[in-house]
Amino acid sequence: MTTELNPFDVAKKQIDIVAKEMGLDPNIREYLKRVERSLIVSIPIMMDDGSLKIFEGYRVHHSTVRGPGKGGIRYSPDVNLDEVKALATWMTFKCSLLNLPLGGAKGGVRVNPRKLSERELERLTRRYTAEIINVIGPDIDIPAPDIATDKKVMSWIMDTYSMQKGRSTPGVVTGKPIEIGGSVGREQATGMGIYFVLQGLCEKLNFNYKELSYVVQGFGNVGGTIAELLYNDGCKILAISDISTGIFYEGGLDIPKLLEWVKYGNYLKDYKDDRYKLITNDELITSKCDILIPAAIENQIAKDNANNIDCKIILEGANGPTTPKADKILFKKGIHVVPDILANSGGVCVSYFEYIQDIHSYFWKLDRINKELKRIIIEAFEETYRISQKRKINLRTAAYVIAVGRLAKAIELRGFFP
Ligand code: NAD
Repeated sequence: MTTELNPFDVAKKQIDIVAKEMGLDPNIREYLKRVERSLIVSIPIMMDDGSLKIFEGYRVHHSTVRGPGKGGIRYSPDVNLDEVKALATWMTFKCSLLNLPLGGAKGGVRVNPRKLSERELERLTRRYTAEIINVIGPDIDIPAPDIATDKKVMSWIMDTYSMQKGRSTPGVVTGKPIEIGGSVGREQATGMGIYFVLQGLCEKLNFNYKELSYVVQGFGNVGGTIAELLYNDGCKILAISDISTGIFYEGGLDIPKLLEWVKYGNYLKDYKDDRYKLITNDELITSKCDILIPAAIENQIAKDNANNIDCKIILEGANGPTTPKADKILFKKGIHVVPDILANSGGVCVSYFEYIQDIHSYFWKLDRINKELKRIIIEAFEETYRISQKRKINLRTAAYVIAVGRLAKAIELRGFFP
């Protein structure tokens, strides 16, 4: 893998860029480029056919300076330690940008969950939880869903942790079902956050977001939610994709029907509508549209295709979809890139609300969740936008100026132990 495409190298490069912009203390810059701890675990699972398979799992804490670690768990055959380190690093900056009292963490298991039965997936999740049990907990590190993990996986983690500790501990994970301490609005939160930030930016640019055209890569929790919110407002969604294919229709896709199709585990490539054209994920990224929302995986916009991007705004639903080299090209082209740590921060924001609700055993109504989410994310957006205008820098570097500034202050106040 080239340095341009290694997510942890990308994260470190982003730290160098902001350090230069801010004149950051070189000691703090180097400290931020390391993770506090990485745990690699082996997960032996007795498969349904009686064979034993051993999977590799990870949990990484990038920084707990501003609070307990927070970050999702990803199940994917491609997960590796450097990817998890990068994702943990971005979580630190995301929480800091929103001024949440949380640090950055992330986890993953190298597995294709589609190849496991439900019972195998449960055994894998419970054994992974047992292996990482000493580094998670409501005041240590609180996992949440990410690619291919959902509320069912969170229930198993919560139950395994609670059984081991001898007390029911809902606050050990967020993104749980509502019946066992989950929060209303959490499943939609990341998409909802993108929706609020989109409206904030369109207001600045004098665009009516309802009249724009959209392309969304990834049609899971994040991509599916934002596509639905936009569709419900009458916006035209020209293309979407999942791992199997992209589909394109100039007249605008019927998002509710497509959501119904993928809800039962179907791939988009098997969806039948003669009007829809199949395109590759690469073609989708460079499709002409007003707003591009990458909401799948890292490195989708790199130096090789950045020049061909044909949109006005990119809202990063995914973590790390744009490389630093691509960022430079997009900035020159005048494309506004709302960075991941801002655009997709609605998820961690409502995860934080879930965590508070669990600790207090007092649960909020949906209108309070969305009102508070909007307030926090729009505040972060306004400050990011202001700094980007003032310093004439892109929105990513501006967001990092805020996030790294807060972290550096916290590090300075705490000092280095011992
Ligand atoms: P998900 O598993 O619900 O959906 C992922 C989607 O991306 C699916 O449609 C899948 O088919 C597609 N996909 C997976 N691998 C792909 C590949 N190699 N090429 C093209 N498409 C691919 O996951 P999600 O929770 O929606 O997460 C998507 C992105 O958003 C990730 O980068 C994740 O880190 C980020 N994110 C998620 C949350 C959250 O709350 N779930 C919060 C913040 C950021």
